[in-house]
Amino acid sequence: MVEVFAVVRLRAMELITILNRCHRFRGFVYHRTRFSPDHKSIEVSVRPRKGSAAICSRCHQPAPGYDQLAERSFEFIPFWGYLVFLLYAMRRVECPRCQAVVVEEVPWGDGKRTLTKAYMLFLARWARRLSWKETAAAFRTSWEKVFDAVEHVVTFGLEHRTLGAIDAIGVDEIQYGKGHKYLTLVYQIDLDVTRLLWVGKERTIQSFQGFFTLIGDEIAAKIVFVCSDMWEPYLKVVREKCSQALHILDRFHIVAKMNKALDEVRAGESRRMARDGMAPLLKKSRWLLLKREENLQTEQRFRLRDLLRYNLKTVRAYLLKEAFQQLWDYNSPAWAGKFLDEWCRQVMRSRIEPMKKIARSLRQHRQLILNYFWAQKQLSSGVVEGLNNKAKVTMRKSYGFRTFRALELALYHSLGKLPEPESTHDFF
Ligand SMILES: [Zn+2]
Repeated sequence: MVEVFAVVRLRAMELITILNRCHRFRGFVYHRTRFSPDHKSIEVSVRPRKGSAAICSRCHQPAPGYDQLAERSFEFIPFWGYLVFLLYAMRRVECPRCQAVVVEEVPWGDGKRTLTKAYMLFLARWARRLSWKETAAAFRTSWEKVFDAVEHVVTFGLEHRTLGAIDAIGVDEIQYGKGHKYLTLVYQIDLDVTRLLWVGKERTIQSFQGFFTLIGDEIAAKIVFVCSDMWEPYLKVVREKCSQALHILDRFHIVAKMNKALDEVRAGESRRMARDGMAPLLKKSRWLLLKREENLQTEQRFRLRDLLRYNLKTVRAYLLKEAFQQLWDYNSPAWAGKFLDEWCRQVMRSRIEPMKKIARSLRQHRQLILNYFWAQKQLSSGVVEGLNNKAKVTMRKSYGFRTFRALELALYHSLGKLPEPESTHDFF
């Protein structure tokens, strides 16, 4: 009695039973499982259920059969160190609606790819945690197949996402690849939804306009806030497409620009001092000067204090940069404006060219900077910076991304909050 019971339990756990539990489709049955001749993979043959008509892949309706193609394999999720393949001979239908002989539609695959949909979703989910290269290695597949999987999931997500109303957007450029290649990223930065909406090639007027073509005039007209940096093509598009929105120069972009100017001053002065045979005071000072003082370790803080005693251009630029931070403490746009004007006046007298360049640029964009103070209670500040950092991490994880397309997919995949294709079972 006990033995019979054990046999039943074992039989109940046959592979087909498991597959029927997690990956079952109407109109098809799992027929037989076997090891491949080299014992490295498991092959599961699939057959149409008797009496069930094939579905035309063009009009998605049942149609009379025509013939059957040679058996092909669909890669399924690997199992205990074995690759798993579904083997199936696709039928062709003679579809009266389409008036053509068409290959049937199968629910587990998309006809073009060799991976099953379940496996693509599985790989794509892992590819969000690991780099694509690591994902391929972990599941003994290729980088190209991981690419296919992510492309499948992202394409589905973009087709099925709801754009809805958008209150606030942030536009940002990001550098990638070798040389000066740029992407334009547009984020939704509403208080309750932050996600990547758009990836455009380069950082031109056209790349940003592509986003407005996507959302259409009606949604664009209702955007309340736009955050951007001082990149002129973006400013121009915002003026055209979102003239009613409050346009804000993002704090993080201004700080980044300021740091860049300071770094330029330091590098120039450091070279000059070396040339003139002076003591290398500025050696290894880069991070001392660029980091916020409260983020320095004690020893670094002492070194910074020491450095600040010297009458160097770099030190003066540093103090100007530090003084500027006070701007963000203001609540009133009017007082912030007074402070900004006074700071720019001081800088223009400083004879430090990179800083003067910043001051000129800030004066030119004075209104957009002060808009920050009009909006600050209504926007989750720092959100563009956070998204930008995530985008950089995605890129860094991506040493295999040779093309714009791969990078675009990776960014949508990790930042787009896209809906996923439905699955018969949560394999991961
Ligand atoms: Zn048809």
